[in-house]
Amino acid sequence: MTPATSPVASIEELNIAGRRVFVRVDFNVPLEAGTITDDSRILAAIPTIRHALSEGARVVLASHAGRPKGKRVPELSLEPIGARLAERMEVEVLLTEDCLSEAAGKVVADLRDGQVALLENLRFHPEEENDDEGFARELAKLCDVYVNDAFGAAHRAHASVSALPRLVPERGIGLLMGQELTALDRLRQGAPRPFVAVLGGAKVSDKIGVMTALLEQVDALLIGGAMANTFLAAQGLPMGSSLVEEDKLPLARTLLQRAAERKVKLLLPVDLVVADGVDAPVGQVVTTSEVGTDDMALDIGPETLKVYREVILGAGALFWNGPMGLFERPAFAQGSLGIAAAGAECSGFTVVGGGDSVAAVNRGGVAERYDHVSTGGGASLEYLEGKELPGIEAVRP
Ligand code: ADP
Ligand code: MG
Repeated sequence: MTPATSPVASIEELNIAGRRVFVRVDFNVPLEAGTITDDSRILAAIPTIRHALSEGARVVLASHAGRPKGKRVPELSLEPIGARLAERMEVEVLLTEDCLSEAAGKVVADLRDGQVALLENLRFHPEEENDDEGFARELAKLCDVYVNDAFGAAHRAHASVSALPRLVPERGIGLLMGQELTALDRLRQGAPRPFVAVLGGAKVSDKIGVMTALLEQVDALLIGGAMANTFLAAQGLPMGSSLVEEDKLPLARTLLQRAAERKVKLLLPVDLVVADGVDAPVGQVVTTSEVGTDDMALDIGPETLKVYREVILGAGALFWNGPMGLFERPAFAQGSLGIAAAGAECSGFTVVGGGDSVAAVNRGGVAERYDHVSTGGGASLEYLEGKELPGIEAVRP
């Protein structure tokens, strides 16, 4: 199940000098009306690009952004992304009109030393998401060497990630992908003990796979967020008008039972911050047996945070995914910010993954105190579950 020392080649081992190196990156940054609101994914790709340039490669970058659903959507053009990359790297970035060879071929052929080409949004073509062979063959015309550095897209069998690398004999992974796999492999294979996982977020149904898999590996599983409501309800506690997945109650009971059998410390909140709705300016702290009919549980309470914090501080390895509450609202952010701070103080090996959890860690200003902040939400969960990622399988020699 676990291809430990995966024989995938790192870009550092590939012969790239003077060659066209196609680098699949994850430039799927949050865009609001064409403006980038967070460029951390762009920054994360820079080390690989710099490495390739310093080796004398001609770099061809490709990415998707948003969900244009196979059509050209001007607001989802990679133009502002290319401009930001150029500004951050201080190199010239040439955006092609389209990602197919007819439009991109000339730009790529004319690339000079130190210049970088960026192909227009791959998802402007429906063939990208369909893992289409013909589309992959078109892209293959633009590359001598293929490098996947898009961890955030590695769990999707899309053409630029799956069909394409199989057509390019010389292939491997970028530096960012390498770091992601090294960090997550450390958790997959003999994580330092005690191994503590913190899971939160909106739905149990999103995280059944990872929760089931983690129950077999961890020493403690701390649950928060709306997901905790379903577990509390499964134990017969009244949850008022909180989000509860009624159809997942039997599953929650099965998971609680499995935790007991394995002697995993599965912790649920003992107190909660409740309010009469998500727009309430402040919440009220109640114990888990005091949730009223009109109450919505929107964060873990201070007593729960204290207990979780202690467990986190004693962890040999920590994996956190999913906020502890509706952290987008200051009134319900204390639980998530408290967990972010505890993880930062933990002296063990600490990893955080997931778009919203990473946002919470950034908001807390503690990201650099984690050993690894994953750029992939879905991909990190699937990889930790023990699944093979299509984007990794496709670059194996
Ligand atoms: P991640 O992106 O880190 O994987 P998820 O997407 O699973 O996390 O969950 C994040 C979302 O869950 C956030 O929008 C957050 O507001 C919401 N959420 C967490 N706890 C609650 C709660 N108690 N009630 C309502 N929404 C919640
Ligand atoms: Mg999310």
